Amino acid sequence: MTRSHLSIGIVGGGPAGCATALALQKQFASSSEKAEITLITAPDSGTPKIGETVPPAASSYLRELDLESLLSEEFHLRCPGSLSQWGDESVGYNDFFITPIGQGFHLDRTLFDKNLLSACFKRGVTVVENTKVTAIKQSDRTISLNCEPELDKHEFDFIVDASGQHRVVTRSLSVANNLFDRVVSVCAFVELESNSSAPAHTIVSSDEYGWWYAARLPNNRAILSFNTDADELKQRRLNSNEKWYHAFCNNQWFYTQCCEQFNQAIPSPRVLFVRTAPSSILSAVIGDNWLAVGDAASSYDSISSAGITKSLKQGIRAAKAILNWVDNPNKASLSAYQALVFQDFNEFIKLHQLHYDSGAHRFPNSAFWQRRLLNEI
Ligand SMILES: Cc1cc2nc3c(=O)[nH]c(=O)nc-3n(C[C@H](O)[C@H](O)[C@H](O)COP(=O)(O)OP(=O)(O)OC[C@H]3O[C@@H](n4cnc5c(N)ncnc54)[C@H](O)[C@@H]3O)c2cc1C
Repeated sequence: MTRSHLSIGIVGGGPAGCATALALQKQFASSSEKAEITLITAPDSGTPKIGETVPPAASSYLRELDLESLLSEEFHLRCPGSLSQWGDESVGYNDFFITPIGQGFHLDRTLFDKNLLSACFKRGVTVVENTKVTAIKQSDRTISLNCEPELDKHEFDFIVDASGQHRVVTRSLSVANNLFDRVVSVCAFVELESNSSAPAHTIVSSDEYGWWYAARLPNNRAILSFNTDADELKQRRLNSNEKWYHAFCNNQWFYTQCCEQFNQAIPSPRVLFVRTAPSSILSAVIGDNWLAVGDAASSYDSISSAGITKSLKQGIRAAKAILNWVDNPNKASLSAYQALVFQDFNEFIKLHQLHYDSGAHRFPNSAFWQRRLLNEI
């Protein structure tokens, strides 16, 4: 493409948007083509960021972005893998393989996202913070963004939707989203009294109406989360502190594991945070002059602990696709990227089904599990 100022707009400053911006910046630095990359991101919601465990593969994607140092043990807590009671009452360990790729971590998620965004600033991406994209308009060759507050420059040659579950660009373009499953997570943070030296395995347990996970976090904190269906949540009032805590104490294996690893009795939570964790994918993650990355393209159930890693990987691959598009500005130049996103989602769905099939054997009379076994979602 021969344009003096090719402009690429990225909507969203989470892991997917930042990885795309950083990979683009790196590629254009060694290319004869030049582009201005603008990343626009909404104000912080003020509620805690949830989603914190990354496997060793995350290190290799960060290394491709020259950012491996972000995963330092100084700021994040090493995670050796998971400890679970799932398909029956036996207990299993699923340790990350010892690998030269790197280690698994429980992240200080706020710091991790902040560091990715500041790397964008430092490497020359134009970062526009505290700005919400409210609508988009597609014309022949460009896409314009309506923002609050308004942007001086709002017209781009290419747009990346990295707005997470909001899917602000693809929603405006009426791209269909295919929902495979949707669990609702009710989460509590616990301030720990002491710094335990026990290995910080993620603790996972199936339960009659859903499943639990717990992870120790950096800075003497832990997260505990119950994952269920919206109707179970409502019917059992699991968003009330009392009911949630009762359900927690009732799962004796999970409760005991948490107390042992965290080295204390776990108190009733003061505040609960509710999040949805869909398993979904767009019908198309590319268009004539746009593509979607991260949760905006495909979202994975939190049982996978793969959302952040997938977002980093997609960002890197999306940047390669956009460079192809610069040479040949049409949808076909982006098709290898779409094939990757679809293929990875199919792999994730196979694992998703394996996990839920196995849990369903433990609770043959539970609607939560049987729905998934029968695929009646
Ligand atoms: C309960 C739960 C537990 C999870 N656990 C894990 C886990 O253990 N490990 C893991 O890897 N993943 C986990 N995840 C998933 C993980 O958090 C996501 O996959 C990941 O955050 C996706 O990154 P992203 O950049 O695509 O989207 P996000 O992180 O959601 O970032 C989207 C960005 O877009 C911005 N934005 C949104 N709307 C607009 C707009 N209109 N205009 C401008 N900007 C906008 C937002 O401000 C944000 O900066 C979990 C998710 C849930 C719900």
